[in-house]
Amino acid sequence: MERFNGYFGEFGGAYVPEGLQKALKDLEEIFYKYIDDEDFINELNYYSKQYVGRENPLYFARRLTEYVGGAKIYLKREDINHTGSHKINNALGQALLAKRSDKKRIIAETGAGQHGVATATVCALFGMDCTVYMGAVDMKRQEHNVFRMKLLGAKVVPVTEGNATLKEAVDKALEDYIENYNDTFYLLGSAVGPHPYPMIVREFQSIIGKEAKRQILEQEGRLPDYIIACVGGGSNAIGLFHPFVEDKEVKIIGVEPGGKGLDSKHHAAAISKGEEGILHGFKSYALDESKYSIHSIAAGLDYPGVGPEHSYYKATGRADYVSITDEEALEAFYKLTKLEGIIPALESSHALAYGMKLASSLPKDNIIIVNLSGRGDKDVNQIMEMENNI
Ligand SMILES: *Cc1c(COP(=O)(O)O)cnc(C)c1O
Repeated sequence: MERFNGYFGEFGGAYVPEGLQKALKDLEEIFYKYIDDEDFINELNYYSKQYVGRENPLYFARRLTEYVGGAKIYLKREDINHTGSHKINNALGQALLAKRSDKKRIIAETGAGQHGVATATVCALFGMDCTVYMGAVDMKRQEHNVFRMKLLGAKVVPVTEGNATLKEAVDKALEDYIENYNDTFYLLGSAVGPHPYPMIVREFQSIIGKEAKRQILEQEGRLPDYIIACVGGGSNAIGLFHPFVEDKEVKIIGVEPGGKGLDSKHHAAAISKGEEGILHGFKSYALDESKYSIHSIAAGLDYPGVGPEHSYYKATGRADYVSITDEEALEAFYKLTKLEGIIPALESSHALAYGMKLASSLPKDNIIIVNLSGRGDKDVNQIMEMENNI
């Protein structure tokens, strides 16, 4: 693989203390050493197929398409993966890198707990020691995932600083990494963080777009008109988008969590409403938390920043970034469940909601691919409580 300097235009980079620079340099070397290595590729492919369940389908949602009455809607079924979302693609890839370095201890951060569960899963699979940092507030909100991680053998460390949510959990994981990188691998969960993480995460998530491209060519004989994914940190989105970036006829749309509306203070639309700055060691758009209370109905989209490559696509116009409110996402959640028998994650419901809106305004011969980043089993309790409170 060609060397990459870590900058997407002016975005990205590695703005970190000296102690961390050495750790990141080592990680970069490990990545380049193995990413084109035949044994590594074979092992990654083996577990992707036999353990994760790839390739997953690109499903034509016939009844949803008929209901919307416009462009054809295809769903990339990351929800079918083992552990229920795209996160396992990256956790598996990084765990295999850790296995090849001499790092026996894995650490990770988690917000809603989905990345924590994916990390604890691959650590169980490969017999690795696993520590997950999680905000104390998030631990209370996501007690099922905390229990799952513990079942899988991980230590879950509560972080009580600040708002006690994802941002502080990342701070703690970075501190641990600086102190212990000689024997510790930091398995970061989204296309964020200092270089080389956005590049590494993109590489392992690009399987989504590579498969989708092959599958749509098989089923329709041409590329799609639009590809759409939700954007939290941006890993499922970049995984779908990246293999299509050079295909100029394919329009790319990222959907941010609009929460209670972009004019309110309660959302997490970092690209639409954020400012350029440095958060967690990389330059990108981020929301100022003194002005906004970071909120989304989907816990996995609750991050004040966004991956640097998305900021770059926004700046260059290669992709458009829009937003969908909590209410619109919820409506799409119910619609897909009733019309197709697929319960989507609330995160994915954002992409779906925009896809449906767009499809209704397009001619019937247009093709849209929506990334169904995860399944909604994890959200059923939350939905049930909401229904009971109405
Ligand atoms: C974590 C998560 C997301 C958001 O993360 P990205 O890095 O933006 O992909 C989206 N969908 C699901 C199902 C998730 O679990």
